[in-house]
Amino acid sequence: MKIGILGGTFDPIHEGHIAIAEHALHAMHLDHVEFIPCFQPPHRDQPIASPEHRFAMVERALKNHPKLTANDIEIKQRGISYTINTIITLQKQHPKNQYYLIVGADAFSQFDTWHSFQKIITAIDIIVLSRHDKKITTPTRVADFLEKNALEKHIHFSTIIPIPISATQIRADIRAGKEKISGLIDEVREYALKNKVY
Ligand code: ATP
Repeated sequence: MKIGILGGTFDPIHEGHIAIAEHALHAMHLDHVEFIPCFQPPHRDQPIASPEHRFAMVERALKNHPKLTANDIEIKQRGISYTINTIITLQKQHPKNQYYLIVGADAFSQFDTWHSFQKIITAIDIIVLSRHDKKITTPTRVADFLEKNALEKHIHFSTIIPIPISATQIRADIRAGKEKISGLIDEVREYALKNKVY
């Protein structure tokens, strides 16, 4: 099986995440995409919502998307969530699957700061999707590594219709008590308000 993995804080999950997963699914003929909320992201402060709330929101948002699933591997693991460890574990658990890491352009532009980025590129294909306010750029260290090891074919760039949505904006809109919030999924809204997540 060809499986996409989409890691993130999902604080909260939003329409932009669903759209990039669906795009990758069709563009790369994947069987399904697993959403993997991190426990503690390596690059930024602890998310506002707890891992349990973020995971619960992902599960609710994906309810009507049979090819998109929630995976709690990083939350169960606890500690800092390094993508390379997740990839190694998944490949060990399911050696017949072929995994594809899905990232937005903003994340890929800082890919040289990811823990063991060389191992990630060697272990797995990466699908890089454009993000509305970011040009897709490859960090120099990543480009050099790809060239030196003839791994350019591991990276698949894809331009998507811009989706001007971010979790940061959604959290701000929820806090401001906005009635209509762009990109917020109904089930997530309901859960977040009921549980006073933000
Ligand atoms: P925040 O605003 O808190 O930084 P976010 O909206 O970027 O959050 P993350 O959970 O950090 O959400 O993102 C997970 C992955 O989804 C990242 O690879 C990110 O680049 C990608 N992504 C999120 N939103 C979009 C979008 N609107 N367009 C394209 N890629 C996106």
